[in-house]
Amino acid sequence: MAPERFHSVSLLEDKCRGCTNCIKRCPTEAIRVREGKARINAERCIDCGECIRTCDNHAKVAVTDSIERLRDFRATIALPAPSLYGQFDQRVAGDVRRIYRDVMGALLALGFDAVYDVAYAADIASFITRTHIESGATEKPCISSACPAVVRLVQVRFPSLISHLLPVDPPIQIAGKLAKRIYASRSGIDTRDIGAFFITPCAAKMRWVREHINPGGETYVDGAISVAGIYGDLLKNMGAGESGPSSLSDTASGLGVGWGASGGENRAVGLENYLVVDGIHNVIAVFEEIEMGRLASVNFIEAQACTGGCVGGPLMVKNPFVGRVNIRRLAVGMREASPFNEQEESHIMGLYRAGFFETREDLQPVAAFKLDEDMSKAIAKMGQLEKVLEDLPGLDCGSCGSPHCRALAEDIVQGLAVETDCVFKLREQVKKLAEELFYLAQKDPSAMSKPDKTGQGQ
Ligand code: SF4
Ligand code: SF4
Repeated sequence: MAPERFHSVSLLEDKCRGCTNCIKRCPTEAIRVREGKARINAERCIDCGECIRTCDNHAKVAVTDSIERLRDFRATIALPAPSLYGQFDQRVAGDVRRIYRDVMGALLALGFDAVYDVAYAADIASFITRTHIESGATEKPCISSACPAVVRLVQVRFPSLISHLLPVDPPIQIAGKLAKRIYASRSGIDTRDIGAFFITPCAAKMRWVREHINPGGETYVDGAISVAGIYGDLLKNMGAGESGPSSLSDTASGLGVGWGASGGENRAVGLENYLVVDGIHNVIAVFEEIEMGRLASVNFIEAQACTGGCVGGPLMVKNPFVGRVNIRRLAVGMREASPFNEQEESHIMGLYRAGFFETREDLQPVAAFKLDEDMSKAIAKMGQLEKVLEDLPGLDCGSCGSPHCRALAEDIVQGLAVETDCVFKLREQVKKLAEELFYLAQKDPSAMSKPDKTGQGQ
């Protein structure tokens, strides 16, 4: 049996009222409501956070690392997501660059020893992505692998598109790799004693971090701390100090910062013939088009699970539209051009050619929708499923705790539900029972029956 995966999205049972709102929004049909509580199927869940946004009872949460984990390391580095800058309003034009510096300073005041700006790593990722796509090594349309919820969606629902995912490191990984390397060489501390923590806008990145912890080898990102969890402290510490000497990266360009909102990655990659899609259900619609062969002429697809991009992440504080404007203002206020000179570009190219920025992940399909591992059993179950489905009302109301009638039919065939979980089937059964009871109530015991005219008992 495959080991249970870590999932950041979790249920607070006592808060769940079994309302079934989340089951309908889940893009991978990973949630059922049984015995009055939501249940998450770990194989199907992609940690997109759609259920966190949907649940008005706040019963769905993202589990992230606590700031206390900084104590586990001799030295710690903060890796702020580009979208973090969108959480701070810039009231006047002069604020723009100050916000950037203040955020860095506020992270240091929180207890980190240094900061490596993930927006700068995004500048590197943009350069590598463009180079890689132009090399023609990946099937077109090439799909960005920067959003881990999208990557997992491909594995779970669109396995035929795995070959379209770009095999280049996302900015979080580039930042972790470079940050630890630089800090170790400056301080003499072993990389294993340096903890790098991503400041995360989402559950998906938290899962990504846990999946990339390598107990037998080198780990580049050791934990993820939620933006919402430290937002109050960051606000308090804004302007607390300069990040200058403790900053491990150069200043990002406006293009790198722009990755924080939808469209920014594409602007930074700078290729013609692209497509930008955000919101997990829109991403699904585009992936269905690719599967039908309709987007073969597109070079690059920037796909993000959250509406508005990472500024719309479920662990963000600001409204995504406000966050997006903030990111744009900051990006424009900084220079929207590559920050690298020729020498730096050739250094990055050297690392790229040596495979330093290549993801080592062997992405495999996740068989979360298979009815059975055994093909003949799966075919038999499919026949049963169709039969069960014919008998269901087809209203897709979700009252049974499954997202639609077909999902309930599947659950019945898999032994996870019964027909009477459908309220209409239950009513039918109750009606039948009531009729039988009524008939029996009318019937006299044969010993008491009066003879009719023919002499027979009634
Ligand atoms: S939305 Fe889902 S998790 Fe929230 S109360 Fe309803 S069933 Fe429970
Ligand atoms: S769009 Fe960004 S915030 Fe949303 S799931 Fe993807 S990486 Fe996380």
